[in-house]
Amino acid sequence: MLLTGKMAIISGAASPRGIGLATARRFAAEGARVAILDIDAGAAADAAASLGGSHIGLGCDVADKSSCEQAVARVIESFGGIDVLINNAGITQPVKFLDISPADWDRIQDVNLKGILFLSQAVIPHMRARKSGSIACMSSVSAQRGGGIFGGPHYSAAKAGVLGLAKAMAREFGPDGIRVNCVTPGLIGTDITAGKLSDEMRVKILEGIPLNRLGTAEDVAGIYTFLASDLSAYVTGAVIDVNGGMLIH
Ligand code: NAD
Repeated sequence: MLLTGKMAIISGAASPRGIGLATARRFAAEGARVAILDIDAGAAADAAASLGGSHIGLGCDVADKSSCEQAVARVIESFGGIDVLINNAGITQPVKFLDISPADWDRIQDVNLKGILFLSQAVIPHMRARKSGSIACMSSVSAQRGGGIFGGPHYSAAKAGVLGLAKAMAREFGPDGIRVNCVTPGLIGTDITAGKLSDEMRVKILEGIPLNRLGTAEDVAGIYTFLASDLSAYVTGAVIDVNGGMLIH
């Protein structure tokens, strides 16, 4: 098992078909103890219970600093420490540039980008004290190719911001034994598209994917597992594509 004895927080992991819960399942199977943090507290508790064992699920809005601080304090109280933080929570919205309202812009930045700042700020002091930790941050192929898949330009901007933030974190906290990396998935079959991905859009997208299928939540969970484990002990500041070849660069 790759994560025996590790204690992990995964944000945005309550959605039944989502990347976060698939990651929680994989982490649990690899021997980790998992804390699921999600804006939907009830779903977080259910998701943790579905894993069996001593995992926990807590309500947490990553866009709210005090909510992050409270949730992290409860995890530390319960687990005694944190080895791994998976900054996975995110939202998207398929709107065109000229239609982005100030409120749309703020909410997309707040959850996808500021959420990583707040949750990491709550966790890093503990990792720093232990001189060890692995943080993985969710970006997207949308950041690298300027969208054009599902999310709007504000989503591309937030996910591109994640790359810069994570690389700067890798530089600042490397001397403390904390690694920080990003994943950049292509289109993954989850509920984030909320039924708005038409068959026509899907066919067009598949034409541009050499592996000729959408990604699965488990495809991304495998990369998070690698980044959480000691297999990636000398990897920091990296960006790992999980896109079936949709973007080769
Ligand atoms: P999903 O909608 O299934 O899961 C997202 C989860 O985040 C949900 O459980 C939701 O309740 C939670 N969440 C939303 N706002 C939150 C907040 N403010 N605080 C805490 N939790 C919150 O979507 P998914 O496809 O599994 O997405 C997971 C991550 O992967 C997101 O960051 C998304 O942007 C990113 N991503 C997804 C794809 C894709 O094609 N599905 C591609 C690239 C990147």
